[in-house]
Amino acid sequence: MMGTSKGEALIVDGKRLDGRKFDELRPIKIEAGVLEQADGSAYVEMGGSHVLAAVYGPVEMHPRHKMLPDRVVLQTQYEMAPFSVPDRKRPGPDRRSKEIAKVTKEALESVIYVEDYAQSAIRLHIEILQADAGTRVTGLTAASVALADAGIKMRDMVAACASGKIDDTIVLDLNGIEDNTGQADLPVAYAVGLDEITLLQMDGLMTEDEFEQGLKYAIDGCKTIYELQKDALKRRYKNE
Ligand code: ADP
Repeated sequence: MMGTSKGEALIVDGKRLDGRKFDELRPIKIEAGVLEQADGSAYVEMGGSHVLAAVYGPVEMHPRHKMLPDRVVLQTQYEMAPFSVPDRKRPGPDRRSKEIAKVTKEALESVIYVEDYAQSAIRLHIEILQADAGTRVTGLTAASVALADAGIKMRDMVAACASGKIDDTIVLDLNGIEDNTGQADLPVAYAVGLDEITLLQMDGLMTEDEFEQGLKYAIDGCKTIYELQKDALKRRYKNE
């Protein structure tokens, strides 16, 4: 959600309010296999955005008329917990969560070997426990690890982060204040090994040069996140 008001400065003496450089991600934590009952799961923190992803499947497709003869359906749910934002969010789906579920599903289906699970469903649940901007990309990063943890065959993993524009400057990984009062937001999901972008959205306005810069920042950010995703999976399976 891009704010329009020109409030306090978001960049002071060449630094962002939280002390980060323009191309610096927030602290990231990734853990794979955090839930007992799901087939695959992951927990991801990107700064103040904390997200759980759980995967079930492949399972039989319900309702059956939604079954696809030649490919799997990734049934995706994105949900913000009522306690994830300062003013308790009303529980249940809304337009925003449906939109995010849709783009998340598409971003992940492009790396899953969808034809290997024809006529089945894979169920993906993304739960935002705490929101401080960038929850769709944090959810995607978590979902990708959860799918790998569930043993779902994929051509690659998807890492995701957003860049944006604040105080006429392109920066990586907006936090809540930056997102609320900034000028633009550019979420990107990127399969590093395949060199494929699987999600690209933009809220707000950027010039062509700013867009190029923002895309470069986001892709570099995804490369860092991709390594952390792989580390999390290695840690999970090292001690088995
Ligand atoms: P993303 O979380 O992917 O950046 P948006 O741009 O739609 O998605 O939302 C930006 C941020 O706005 C969220 O991460 C969250 O911090 C905040 N936000 C979204 N929905 C709500 C809500 N219902 N109440 C309070 N804050 C919200």
